[in-house]
This record gives sequence, structure tokens and C-alpha cells, in this order.
Amino acid sequence: MAEINIEDLRKQFELDDGSLLTAVNDVDLTVEDGEFLVLVGPSGCGKTTTLRCVAGLEEVTSGHILFDDDDVTDRRARDRDVAMVFQNYALYPHMNVRKNIGFGLKLSSKRTSADIRERVESTAEMLGISDLLDKRPRDLSGGQQQRVALGRAIIREPEVFLMDEPLSNLDAKLRSEMRTELQELQHDLDVTTMYVTHDQTEAMAMGDRIAVMNDGELQQVGTAEEVYASPTNEFVANFIGSPSINLFTADVSGGTLRGPGDFEYRLDDPSWVDGYDRVRVGVRPEDIRLVESGGNAAEASVVEPMGNENFLYATLGDRELTARIESGLRPTTGQTVRFTFDEDSLYLFDPETGEALKTKTADVSATVGDYAHTEGESA
Ligand code: ADP
Ligand code: MG
Repeated sequence: MAEINIEDLRKQFELDDGSLLTAVNDVDLTVEDGEFLVLVGPSGCGKTTTLRCVAGLEEVTSGHILFDDDDVTDRRARDRDVAMVFQNYALYPHMNVRKNIGFGLKLSSKRTSADIRERVESTAEMLGISDLLDKRPRDLSGGQQQRVALGRAIIREPEVFLMDEPLSNLDAKLRSEMRTELQELQHDLDVTTMYVTHDQTEAMAMGDRIAVMNDGELQQVGTAEEVYASPTNEFVANFIGSPSINLFTADVSGGTLRGPGDFEYRLDDPSWVDGYDRVRVGVRPEDIRLVESGGNAAEASVVEPMGNENFLYATLGDRELTARIESGLRPTTGQTVRFTFDEDSLYLFDPETGEALKTKTADVSATVGDYAHTEGESA
């Protein structure tokens, strides 16, 4: 096992017209020994490229990749002790499961066939696919194929697991089952793991820590709670959380925020917006409370019952507002609802840079501050 250190990693691709595309822009990231770190971000933000650089499948433009203190930047993929699992399982169609799982081991070691056989069988048992060993990939379901692909990676007992959207091809139910299984497996094996997904729900559910990327740049690294409650900027606030945070622009005057549809909110502590005449305001759907009187008015459009709660969609001037409300509350379409929220739960962002001016809780942002500090040091 190893700690992965990604230092100032930059990867540029030369496009057909000769221009350079920066897919990974000076990323600094440490994955701790035995940690399950999820790299998450929208499609095209550079997740796969980062992972391929760590695997040795992509030559870096600049920067370094270290496994513990061992600089592997210029080492070929097969000389790095990593196993990678992809979205498309890339099983050998003409080989049965037994051979598919044993294949990686055969290449990489001088083991006896009896030893390989035994290892394949214990790996298959761990993954619950012992009864499939003599089948071909085409006779397996998507979930079974994914288990075989995992088996092929696990059997090598690598220092590092790299997984690129490995569950994307599975249906929703199987995907959430496999999430849990994968986590348990990773926990048992205790192998340092980088897991890539574009799905923030999956990231929140699985990662010890989450690294959020956008446009080639690392935005924030932290636990699910930290990135949710104390995002470093508007992008992270907006990307993490479902339904998404409500965001709008407000004018600031004398400690009062004024926004769409006559929105007005008096800050108890106006120092958050010192020096700003305009800010971006963020409120999470679960922090909105409906009130009888006072607060602000919005017009209800749709209520989606979730069983234990309702999602209320309303309009606030030209903005849509989402609120998670009690299941007993069902405003009708067109009805005026009044809402408020606590200042503690309010997020404020710089309207130009998107940088967070205020997030949800003071104690969580202190922890995130520590991460920001660490990143600053290694940069
Ligand atoms: P993600 O995995 O987050 O969806 P990728 O790492 O695959 O993103 O891609 C990041 C950016 O780099 C995208 O703009 C993509 O088009 C570009 N890119 C990836 N691989 C290549 C390549 N081999 N040649 C040129 N551009 C590439
Ligand atoms: Mg990708």
C-alpha cells in the first residue's frame, strides 16, 4: 500500500489545429495510505486524464506522481504497482471467468498453476462469483461482468486501485448495491483507492474524502460534510447536493440583501458583505422554512411528494426556488407561500470570483480552512 502524491500535475493535449488544451491544470492532491478518495466533477473536467497520469497511461506535461517517496512519474504503467478498473470492463470474450481473473496474475508473476488456481478461487469467493468461473463474459449480466473486472484487479494485490466510473453501466439498483460492496471490499483490502465519478451522489456516498474538480482545476478536497456545508466557492456549492442549492444575485445596501421578486433579507451580521454592493446568495433547499407571515413571498408551482418529505418548486421573481418541506405541507399551484431561513444556513459568494464569503457553519469551515492551507503549502 502507498500514499499517492500528485504534485503540480499538468497535462496538455495538442489538438489537430496545433493549439493546446489543458486537461489537468496544476493539480496538487494527496491520497492517504488506505484511503478511498473520490474524484468528482462534470464531464470533461479532467478526471480520467488525472487518473491515467497516475496509472502511467498518459505522459505528464509537468509535475510529479509519487507513491510514498517513490517518484514514479517516468515509470511505465506496468512497472507501477497499480490496478485499474474502467467503465467498460474490457474482459476477454474468448476466455472464461477463471482465465479472465487469473490473467493479470499470470503476466505479472512467476507463480505455479496451483497457486494461481487457488488465488482465483478465493478472489471469486470474495466477490460471490464462484459459481461463474467456467462461464464466458457474454453469459454474464452487467453486474457479474463488473465483479469479474474487479476480481482481475484485486487478485494482483496492487499498492493502488484506480477506478474510472466503474459502476456507470449498471442500472440504478445494482449500482447502489455495488457501491456498498465496493466500499466494504476496499475497506477489507485496505488498498489506497482513487475512484472517479461524475455523479456527486455517488461521491458523497462512497468517499472517505471527495476531491471536486472543474475545468482541469482542483476546487476543494474534504469529507462529504465539509464540501457540502463549507464549499470554497459557488461551483462546489452548486455541484454538491441534490436537489441543488438555490442561488441568485442580490444587491447589498446597509446590511440588507435585495434579490429577485422583492426578496429582502436583513443580515444580523453585515460584516459578511463588507465592501460588496452585490453578492451571490445561496440557500440549501432543506434550510428553507415556510412561515405563516413575514419572510419573503414566492409562488408555488409544483409539489413533488417524496414520502418522508415534499419537494416544493416555486418562483421567486425570475428564479426557480426549491424547498424541502414537511410531507404534510402541499401548497397548490399558484398559491403564494412565505419562506424564511436562518442566517447560520446562508451562503454568500463573491459575484466575480465565486469565492465563498460565508458558508453554513463556523466549525466546519475551520476544518476546510486547514485543507486549503495544506494545498497552499504544497503549491
Ligand atoms: P473527464 O474524465 O472528467 O470527463 P477527461 O479527462 O476525459 O475528462 O478530459 C478532459 C479534457 O481533455 C476534455 O476536454 C477532453 O476532450 C480532453 N482530452 C482527453 N483526452 C484527450 C486526448 N487524447 N486528446 C485531446 N484531448 C483530450
Ligand atoms: Mg472520464
